[in-house]
Amino acid sequence: SRRRALTLEDYYAGVVARNIAVLPRALTLVESTRPEHQLLAEQLMTRILPHTGQSIRVGITGPPGVGKSTFIEALGMYLVGLGRKVAVLAVDPSSGVSGGSILGDKTRMAHLSAEPNAFIRPSPSAGTLGGVARKTRETMLICEAAGFEIVLIETVGVGQSETMVAEMTDCFLALMMPGGGDELQGIKRGLLELVDVIAVNKADGVNRQPAEVAARQLERILHALTSQTDEPPAVLTCSALEHTSIDAVWNAIERRQEKAQQLGLLAERRCRQSARWMWSIVDEQLRHAVHSSTAVAKIRNDLESKVLEGVLAPEAAARSILEACGLKVGET
Ligand code: GDP
Repeated sequence: SRRRALTLEDYYAGVVARNIAVLPRALTLVESTRPEHQLLAEQLMTRILPHTGQSIRVGITGPPGVGKSTFIEALGMYLVGLGRKVAVLAVDPSSGVSGGSILGDKTRMAHLSAEPNAFIRPSPSAGTLGGVARKTRETMLICEAAGFEIVLIETVGVGQSETMVAEMTDCFLALMMPGGGDELQGIKRGLLELVDVIAVNKADGVNRQPAEVAARQLERILHALTSQTDEPPAVLTCSALEHTSIDAVWNAIERRQEKAQQLGLLAERRCRQSARWMWSIVDEQLRHAVHSSTAVAKIRNDLESKVLEGVLAPEAAARSILEACGLKVGET
């Protein structure tokens, strides 16, 4: 039997009351690609906006096998143990492509997913990275409106996904393995600019000592690479498996958050992020509008074959396509 359709008011009231029957339905609405759902989702986003912004938003990255899911489960259990409400989300551009995903789902976090104060949501699977990231951001805001005080967003060090997650979070944590000497090898250049805290995981057993050495070495390098005015990333060691120093990693994150808040940097960062999201949604929708336009569908094959045959310049063909969508094309 079909479930009764919820109204905007049902969704809104259910989300802010953290109604566990309504929350997943609100997220399904947000993730839906159907136009009527998207309109309703937009209205819901506007409605919940005053209830958002109260959480600590943490991005977590690291190569496959570094221990992300083990770490997130350990951190989540630690935070839940402190009486806090934790949402775990993921941005995985591989998710849904040929049925696979780099980040697994909640079955990997068996203990945490059984906790009433934890909420785990796998990566949305549809569409481009931009689309996946946007839906995750909306999911994050809904979780905030539902009273989750901490949102952890997991991603993998692939392509642009780290940048996208950094664009929606306050603090970025990179997990690393105890390396074999060259400690910068494990951390890519672009990541350095995004990262606030680095945790060398698997600091247990025979790896304990090497992990410490690696962390101190990394700390020295990062100190040298960071300008005087900036604070270099904090570097710590931990063991997700043995649950050691998980609290220390969390304290480092929270300390940064408090400092950023006091200095007004947090509000500034979030405002900048919102403005950039607006434009990235415009870009994405514009692309979608062009590619799904019936006016374009009528002329695209003809234009494309003329360009292929070399009888029409790509510039002229592009102009025809954009004008078919009602867009005025100026000098570029
Ligand atoms: P992910 O791919 O980054 O999510 O990594 P997983 O959390 O799935 O962990 C990969 C493997 O590393 C698993 O076999 C874990 O048990 C193991 N692992 C994770 N954290 C630790 C740790 O702190 N110490 C040790 N020794 N092994 C760990």
